[in-house]
Amino acid sequence: WIDEGDWSVLDIADEPDDEQLRLPVLAVVGRPNVGKSTLVNRIIGRREAVVEDVPGVTRDRVTYEADWAGRRFLVQDTGGWEPDAKGLQQAVARQADVAMRTADAILLVVDAVVGATATDEAVAKVLRRSKTPVILVANKVDDARVEAEAAALWSLGLGEPQPISASHGRGTGDLLDLVLATLPSTPRDDGVIGVGPRRVALVGKPNVGKSSLLNKLSGDERSVVHDVAGTTVDPVDSLVELGGRVWRFVDTAGLRKRVGQAKGAEFYASLRTRGAIEAAELVVLLLDAAEPITEQDQRVLGMVVDAGRALVIAFNKWDLVDEDRRYTLRSEIERDLAHVTWAPRVNISAKTGRAVQKLVPAMETALDSWDKRISTGQLNSWLKEVVAATPPPMRGGRLPRVLFATQAATRPPTFVLFTTGFLEAGYRRFLERRLREEFGFDGSPVRVSVRVRE
Ligand code: GDP
Ligand code: GDP
Repeated sequence: WIDEGDWSVLDIADEPDDEQLRLPVLAVVGRPNVGKSTLVNRIIGRREAVVEDVPGVTRDRVTYEADWAGRRFLVQDTGGWEPDAKGLQQAVARQADVAMRTADAILLVVDAVVGATATDEAVAKVLRRSKTPVILVANKVDDARVEAEAAALWSLGLGEPQPISASHGRGTGDLLDLVLATLPSTPRDDGVIGVGPRRVALVGKPNVGKSSLLNKLSGDERSVVHDVAGTTVDPVDSLVELGGRVWRFVDTAGLRKRVGQAKGAEFYASLRTRGAIEAAELVVLLLDAAEPITEQDQRVLGMVVDAGRALVIAFNKWDLVDEDRRYTLRSEIERDLAHVTWAPRVNISAKTGRAVQKLVPAMETALDSWDKRISTGQLNSWLKEVVAATPPPMRGGRLPRVLFATQAATRPPTFVLFTTGFLEAGYRRFLERRLREEFGFDGSPVRVSVRVRE
């Protein structure tokens, strides 16, 4: 019943510019008259910054640029058409299906005063399968008296309804905060929007072999790419074709031209490392296999985890590793890398080329994990089982109940647990461990936060 005919997202006369293509997309869906347009106007502050405008009988989707707390994103309003009553459920369900495949987050707007209609139920049913995060908006909650009606929308099975009044502005600030927490900082690129090579940062302390590795990887002239359609390459980056796809190694200018070890160079190197990590989706951290893991290595590792980037650890100079060193390295790994056991490790030699070809599969695994989304249904049946087998420890004589979980974001995978009480750090770590065992997130940090409901 899903007719894809008229719904291509970028089939437009006025192409959005490059920068806009890189913004995440929020889709607003719901049946007519629930207040979608009113909400969209509220979100964009009534600035008519139209990115795309496709008027038509069945095709009417308008994209606006919005800005909240300094972050820019696109809002896609799917309202405006006038379907006949018969086609309504199908049309709204189709709208939701398109949003699931193209947007980075979805707002399902429901009229709290009217309550959940058959059409709302039909859309909710589609959206419960969604791997794209869905926020349920209970609109027309103009004052506290309607709050109870909003709570009734839990029945839609999409988690906590967010009560707002689009026309009065009540609750919309909180809603936008939640939207920002949910939207990834970069848009998905499996859809039409934001296509481009994956961005990799090659980092590690001076002399660990970064430029040697880059040279090795791009040694074959044919693998160095100078132009990718639709991509503007920052002159400090390098495009390299590996394993059949093009990768963008960020901020490699300093690697290609050896920079002198001037006074303070380490400070600037560290700033630059931080910048490269921020700019990348994936970090390949080089460690010197022949030398002890240093504090500087640990600092860079901390930066990667804090920034929430995918990670592969490469032990370079493996040609210098003998039996004794292999033994001491094993205990160093246990001691110093215990918090990143999820990162794939490869033992390579940039000098001899040993095992360098193992890097690319590890990089792909890490990015797949980083992008991975677990459906709300799968997540909650897993959660139910784990919590039943090992309930959280009592706090103040009470057993906190874990109500519901949702994956709020990808890149990195970010989960929110709704509970009736505080969960101890040890139990949260236990859940994260079980989550990794069940769904596997090799190469990606995973974030779990807890929201306590009164
Ligand atoms: P759309 O079909 O989703 O585009 O809905 P509209 O934004 O056009 O709104 C439909 C009707 O609901 C209009 O008359 C709006 O003024 C009204 N409306 C929208 N939001 C609210 C709200 O928060 N409270 C009240 N009381 N009415 C609202
Ligand atoms: P960078 O500062 O991280 O870019 O490190 P370089 O690539 O300039 O390498 C520093 C030194 O380590 C150079 O003398 C390289 O030849 C050497 N080197 C790099 N990789 C390897 C390796 O895998 N094995 C050995 N034995 N030496 C290496």
